[in-house]
Amino acid sequence: MKVEKKSPKKPLVFYYLIAMAVLMLLNALVFPALLSTPITDVSYDEFLTMVGNQQINEVAIETDQIAFTTIDLEGNTQVYRTGKMDDDGLVDRLYASGVKFASAIPTQESPIITFLMSWVFPILFFVVIGQLMGKMMSKRMGGNAMQFGKSNAKVYIESTTGKTFADVAGQDEAKEALTEIVDFLHNPKKYASIGATLPKGALLVGPPGTGKTLLAKAVAGEAKVPFFSISGSEFVEMFVGMGAAKVRDLFKQAAEKAPCIVFIDEIDTIGKKRDNGSGIGGNDEREQTLNQLLSEMDGFDGTKGVVILAATNRPESLDKALLRPGRFDRRIPVELPDLAGRIAVLKVHSVDVKMDSDIDFDTIGRATSGASGAELANIINEAALRAVRLGRQSVSQMDLEESVEVVIAGYQRKGAMINEREKRIIAYHEIGHALVSARLKDASPVHKITIIPRTSGALGYTMQIDEEERVLMSKDDMLSQIITLTGGRAAEEIVFNSITTGASNDIEKATKTARAMITRYGMSEQFGMIALETVTNPYLSADSSLMCSAEMAAKVDAEVQSMIHGAHDKARESLLEDRALMDVLAEYLLDKETITGVEFMEILNREDAKKLLAPQETLV
Ligand code: ADP
Ligand code: ZN
Repeated sequence: MKVEKKSPKKPLVFYYLIAMAVLMLLNALVFPALLSTPITDVSYDEFLTMVGNQQINEVAIETDQIAFTTIDLEGNTQVYRTGKMDDDGLVDRLYASGVKFASAIPTQESPIITFLMSWVFPILFFVVIGQLMGKMMSKRMGGNAMQFGKSNAKVYIESTTGKTFADVAGQDEAKEALTEIVDFLHNPKKYASIGATLPKGALLVGPPGTGKTLLAKAVAGEAKVPFFSISGSEFVEMFVGMGAAKVRDLFKQAAEKAPCIVFIDEIDTIGKKRDNGSGIGGNDEREQTLNQLLSEMDGFDGTKGVVILAATNRPESLDKALLRPGRFDRRIPVELPDLAGRIAVLKVHSVDVKMDSDIDFDTIGRATSGASGAELANIINEAALRAVRLGRQSVSQMDLEESVEVVIAGYQRKGAMINEREKRIIAYHEIGHALVSARLKDASPVHKITIIPRTSGALGYTMQIDEEERVLMSKDDMLSQIITLTGGRAAEEIVFNSITTGASNDIEKATKTARAMITRYGMSEQFGMIALETVTNPYLSADSSLMCSAEMAAKVDAEVQSMIHGAHDKARESLLEDRALMDVLAEYLLDKETITGVEFMEILNREDAKKLLAPQETLV
């Protein structure tokens, strides 16, 4: 999770106006004082007195004024000016007092200075301002606006990233794989003297937000070497040839700073498989960039201590050439954290946050199965923000639980208008899920039910939490999941005798699960252990492709259909038996809007007990 701070930007006009004001001020006050000798205006009388006292050194009689200078005891020249009078004897008297006659005495700034002041300075000034503004503009436009043909590899040099392995929670295998690289960077000579070359590159492979960038930074931090980072997408430029030039620049800079780490994020954007039939022009630019990268990697000396780490979440799409020995021949998996890992990430990010003393990280860890490190970091931050919003001094368990929902299910939609009838439908829908699940022996217990809508579009939400982390799911577990998913729609049908769009997400999930059971996990009787689908990308599970004939595919569809039908029927049956209980629970939920799993089970057990007692009561 990244927090970006942006200072509000003032319009360029603002800077322009400031510049103008400064220039005017200089022109009016500062320059004249600096550049010209001060001139004193005196009366004609005073002039004559000074002539009489033989104080005058030089005099110039001009058409409309008389200018003259004196020299004081310290030898400084002082310039005076007086008006011209009709005075015939003046020249004789001046002669008599022994002054020198000059053709002109500059009583204004010299023409050169005037020229400088009125022309050269302003022009210079505006040229400088213009350049500054140009730089600012191009910065705003991403740095590429006005520089044609020059590669400006956006390379960040962070002499110390400040991250260490201690900042990375969990990911022990990845850390272990990277310690050798750290050691190598610490002491390249040790390896060189034996003749060992470490791999030049390692590929960090895993889903988004699992800490690949963080790990790369930690390697640099541990080894105390500079960290260069660039994203694959930055290589793909608007001008052909720029990408390759950037690669060259990057490697040149890295070689100068060795030992160091070069981190290329999203390497798949440039390292995609090169397909030859890509048509006209195709991906020339990308291919050039990739070729440049390959040749740079082959070219540099592996003993120098430049290690290239790259990250991707689509390893299968990478060009094989990138994975050859001497290139990215090490692959380091960075997986989504398991329960222990999630708790560790939560704790690492809580270090700088004030927390209540009774925080139960275990519950939060259980509720966030499948969340990435980045999402977990975000959960802590959201919880802290919520605590501030509510004017509290530290983060409470409530804040954390609420923020789990915020991060996983979107923000609470405050004041969203939902009419009473819709609210009833949503309540019954959610109770349907929970109640069906409670009656199944393999389902995860209900942790929380809410009918407070989220901005993500979810209108209600039933949170189930496994008692323990599961690595394996049995066929029964998966069937229970599907039955629970159909419970929402089944409740709507039973109570309102109509169906709504509210179940779309459930339907999608149920279908996916059923399909996976049949095509990938060999859990259907009809097909048995036959792989009908392959997952082309283990990190983006949506990427899978059929690997069977069309007839087989049709049969798979039919099987999915019957599996979901069966589940739906089971859910209906179960809910019909609990029809009265459903009303009690739904009313309670409508009233409270959010209820905990404990409250839910209390009501369930109470009503069950009543039901058991009921027949005996009638007997009496
Ligand atoms: P990736 O590069 O895999 O997409 P990042 O390294 O950018 O993921 O992770 C984003 C943020 O998520 C990190 O800055 C960190 O705050 C948090 N994070 C992810 N994984 C971990 C982890 N294992 N330990 C601690 N924080 C993590
Ligand atoms: Zn539902």
